Amino acid sequence: LFNLGTPVVALIDGATSLHQGLGAMVRIQAVEDMELERHDGPVWAATRSMPATVTFHDVSFGYPGRGSTLSGICFTARAGAVTALVGPSGAGKTTVFSLIERFYEPTAGRITLDGVSIAGQPREAVRRRLAYVEQDTPMLAGTFRENLTYAAPDTDAATILQVLERTQLLDLVAGLPDGLDTDIGARGLALSGGERQRLAVARALLRKPDVLLLDEMTSHLDTRSEVAMRELVTQVARECTVILIAHRLGTVTMADEIVVLDAGMVRAVGSHDQLLQNDSLYQELVRTQLTPSDTDIDAGSLVP
Ligand code: ATP
Repeated sequence: LFNLGTPVVALIDGATSLHQGLGAMVRIQAVEDMELERHDGPVWAATRSMPATVTFHDVSFGYPGRGSTLSGICFTARAGAVTALVGPSGAGKTTVFSLIERFYEPTAGRITLDGVSIAGQPREAVRRRLAYVEQDTPMLAGTFRENLTYAAPDTDAATILQVLERTQLLDLVAGLPDGLDTDIGARGLALSGGERQRLAVARALLRKPDVLLLDEMTSHLDTRSEVAMRELVTQVARECTVILIAHRLGTVTMADEIVVLDAGMVRAVGSHDQLLQNDSLYQELVRTQLTPSDTDIDAGSLVP
């Protein structure tokens, strides 16, 4: 997420930055209201650039002034695996991400990174090990290059080339009138939604996070963008743990583990095939919520 103190914020398109910025400030303020910073172990210096295991140990949480939002959440996102969170709207998927980012603190239980409680670390130290790609990640009103490298401005040309290749953006950049120096307009509107999200992943990768939190786009993606994203996620998991809020059938079928959330509780955990056999809510999600891509067979026929 944006560090609101950096001058780069000045470049962000007004509407987007105001919306995102306010959201972030409200969340940060909420944390600050809830408790003072405390850290009781050696402070994490930076990323280790290695996948980390993220574990929720019986975590409960309620937004201030509201009832319980998450109750007794237990799951492990294994290092180097792809873990998908699925569930009906309001189940608590985004809240799980907010707790990992420490926008809020659990009211009970704890969250660990490689066995170490994140509550014992300064928030900045936790966030340095994470990258959060939101559904509609804010873009700067500037060039492709500025959008790619603002969190890692010293990236050399070879690394840029490599990351563009991995995110399958090389052809796109090659086709732009001024290549990397092409202005992509306010909110990156010269790019499709799928391209913007791949650019956001590329930007996240340049920071070499230990954990990538990805809120997959709900809107329609063209087949090329969708396939590219799926391949990218599988590849990225070798370098960092991937936890994603999945909205697409193609993504859950390739996830190593799927956590089904319902009304703030973990209802089931398993592979796509296991859940399809054993969990009626998962069957319903596959039928009604998870978007099949143009290349998937009819979702209805997958359900027994
Ligand atoms: P969706 O798929 O619709 O994004 P979700 O599974 O991500 O849903 P959350 O956004 O985590 O669900 O929301 C869980 C519950 O917490 C909902 O009832 C929601 O209204 C509530 N909630 C979310 N954010 C806040 C907030 N900032 N303040 C108070 N309540 C909130």
